[in-house]
Amino acid sequence: MGRKFAYFSSQSLKMRFQMWIGVAILALAFSIIVPFYWIEKKNRIGEAENQLKQMITLQSLYIEKWNQEKLDAVERFALSDYAKFHQLEQLKGEFHNYTRLNSEFDTLNFVEPNGIIYTSSDTAIYVGDRPFFKNALENRSFISGVDISRETGKPIITFSAPVLGNLNEFKGVVMGVVTLDMLNKLMKQLRFGETGEVYVLDAKGQVVTASGHSSMSEANNNVFMSSEIIERAKSGTTSSKIYTGFHGEKVFGQYQWSTGKNWIVVGEITQKEVFQKLNQLSLTIIIISLIAFILSVLAAITIASRIERPIRYLLRATQHIRNGTYHYQIDADEIRNAPIELKTLVNTFNLMSDKLNTTITLLEKSALVDQLTDIPNRRYVMSEGNEELKACIAAGYTCSVMMMDIDHFKKVNDTYGHLVGDRVLQQVASLLKQLASSQIIVARYGGEEFILVCLRQNAQDSELLAERIRQCIAAKPYSDEQVTVQLTASIGVAEFSPKLEFGTMVLEDMISRADHALYRAKSAGRNRVELDR
Ligand code: GH3
Ligand code: MG
Ligand code: MG
Repeated sequence: MGRKFAYFSSQSLKMRFQMWIGVAILALAFSIIVPFYWIEKKNRIGEAENQLKQMITLQSLYIEKWNQEKLDAVERFALSDYAKFHQLEQLKGEFHNYTRLNSEFDTLNFVEPNGIIYTSSDTAIYVGDRPFFKNALENRSFISGVDISRETGKPIITFSAPVLGNLNEFKGVVMGVVTLDMLNKLMKQLRFGETGEVYVLDAKGQVVTASGHSSMSEANNNVFMSSEIIERAKSGTTSSKIYTGFHGEKVFGQYQWSTGKNWIVVGEITQKEVFQKLNQLSLTIIIISLIAFILSVLAAITIASRIERPIRYLLRATQHIRNGTYHYQIDADEIRNAPIELKTLVNTFNLMSDKLNTTITLLEKSALVDQLTDIPNRRYVMSEGNEELKACIAAGYTCSVMMMDIDHFKKVNDTYGHLVGDRVLQQVASLLKQLASSQIIVARYGGEEFILVCLRQNAQDSELLAERIRQCIAAKPYSDEQVTVQLTASIGVAEFSPKLEFGTMVLEDMISRADHALYRAKSAGRNRVELDR
């Protein structure tokens, strides 16, 4: 389970969208197709069975009526005086007239009480062993199953009626022969569906006639059906199961016994025909479902990419912020198709990065600028100043450093208060900025100490500048409405020397030496400039 969840949790937004929408559509299609197919299949089978039932009912009615007509004709001859009184010449004359005019009999015969028929060519044929003869002996009319004619060798059906004398004594049989060709012609008119088949079997299961069997000749009439439907007919059961039918195809079938139970009428329709429309419909639904599936996956991709895109941009932007690119902004044009919530999120992100950038810029600046005097602070000089100094020295210029300290500043604070002390410091700082060229970094080193990093200026020139500064400070006392404060300052100057005496940084070394010079200036009575030697 754990591994399965791990798999899903590592899927991207897009993949999840595609997967779930795909699953939803397939489930939907499945839940439509399966019940539809199931119900429709039942309907189709029911429909086909009903049609088959109607068909074979009609068919058997028709066949029975036809059979009855034949039997009636035979019985009429059996009751005639010619038959009763054995007037065979006249009887045969009647037979001849009848078959010639309107009958569907192939031949009509008189069977002698001893079971012998004398044919038209006067040959004697024994039929005493035939079932019809036995029935006639028991005073019954009879319609046979399929027999092979002893005269012609063709498959035939016989209709027979006993001839009885006035005292009910057995005097022979009148027998009508119908060839199967005859029956086939009859059946041809009645056919079911495109692949449907209606056929008639005798009680032994031998095919009497079939509707769709175009080449139903005498030879292959001698066919015994052994299919499922015969079993059902014999056992009297009904079922909707598919079985192998008359033409060897999978079929649905229904049967009906004729009255007298001598013939079975069977109707069959192939499974293919029953399901053809259903299959076409199902195929259409499957194709529509597939198209819907493809369209929804495409829609899922579009929706997912509209959501995923701004998230991807946001992700990239946060990475930029993490790497220190605080001013990074997401291009709003790139996500104009995104949902409104994500647009708002992106806008908020942009505002946030904006704010972050200003704040950080301010922090960075304030970290390097002295708040009181608004000139660079010691940290700035030690990092940026040092870098510029190194670059300048590397470029071959001579550089120097001045350290300046206001004399007896503690006294200023003590006498006039800290506020005045602060203002004095501000005045000195602005004076230094005025006097220094653009090549000089002026910074507050700490307390009342200032540093001037003179790029491209040797110690002699710096000494001259220091002197000017000293004079200016001395000449311009601080004054406001209440007080005037006389000021002096001491300055130490040192030039770059490749040999580092103090510390590891060039600037550290120069500052230390300038400090020493400053110390000497203080010691020598203050308000002086001293050069490092
Ligand atoms: P010296 O001539 O030897 O330099 O004497 P000094 O009094 O200037 O030196 P000292 O180091 O004894 O005193 C420095 C004074 O500077 C102490 C402190 O109160 C004052 N000071 C340092 N920073 C500030 C500041 O930002 N504002 C004010 N008002 N005073 C400050
Ligand atoms: Mg000091
Ligand atoms: Mg001082």
